[in-house]
Amino acid sequence: MSEGKPPAQQKGRFNPGGRAIRFYGVSKLFNAPTTGPISAVNAIDLDIPAHQFVAVVGPSGCGKSTLLRLADGLITPDQGEVTIGGHPPVPGPDIGLVFQNFRLIPWRSVADNVAFALQGQGLSQSEIGLRTAAHLEQVGLLRWGAHYPAQLSGGMRQRVALARALVGQPDVLLMDEPFASLDAQTRELMQEDLLALWERQRPTVLFVTHSVDEALLLADRVIVMSAGSILEDIRVDLPRPRRPEVARQTAEFSTLRGQIWTRIRDLVLSDPNSGFFGRDAL
Ligand code: ADP
Repeated sequence: MSEGKPPAQQKGRFNPGGRAIRFYGVSKLFNAPTTGPISAVNAIDLDIPAHQFVAVVGPSGCGKSTLLRLADGLITPDQGEVTIGGHPPVPGPDIGLVFQNFRLIPWRSVADNVAFALQGQGLSQSEIGLRTAAHLEQVGLLRWGAHYPAQLSGGMRQRVALARALVGQPDVLLMDEPFASLDAQTRELMQEDLLALWERQRPTVLFVTHSVDEALLLADRVIVMSAGSILEDIRVDLPRPRRPEVARQTAEFSTLRGQIWTRIRDLVLSDPNSGFFGRDAL
């Protein structure tokens, strides 16, 4: 425990975490040889309080993943500042990452994939074993610990990835289309699992998805992005703890779904780069 470290690195690892994520006037440009510079994220201000679950939706290419990568500290803004708990993000165990393609290490067992996230933190092997087992149990995979990723279904692999992201008790969980490659039934079950895990640890979550339904079922707030900017910032007041099948039946869910979907549909139909451009004119 050294002085000057961000607060989350000083706290006891099993305390419920959660730190604010803030974007202050953040812009990110990419250089593309054919089209010239692309403004992936453009002067974004976004303040996400600790423990909040925020979903980001919007058409492909609007900057959702770039926003997420700016929050994990792996890319840096060209303008503005991103902070987590008041400090620039530092990639490491305080920031849990979950991607669509799992990113498990194929030659390590399920348990070793999860335990890997705890290496280098000065924990004893028995402590690592205990924490790994506890998190595999939380995702229902304790008895699969000795198996390898290739022996698991897609849903099980994504549960391993979730356990790996959460085993370090991160304050912040960044998820980029985590359930997009799963079948519809597995996806719904994973949404339930994620809600249960989030209720237990309450990290601050930034969750990128193409699915308006998924955003509304999971999040406290839905950000709609278009062309690198925030178009709408919508509060979701569905009760917690939230049960997707109950939330789906509410009037608030269908009203918000209609509102957000109409907005995204209009964006896609009016985008000259979209395959649906001009479809209404048919
Ligand atoms: P989304 O996640 O909403 O689909 P992205 O954040 O991935 O959007 O991309 C936003 C824009 O930035 C897109 O036009 C994309 O092609 C471009 N872009 C993203 N990453 C890079 C990169 N590494 N190099 C060049 N262009 C990029």
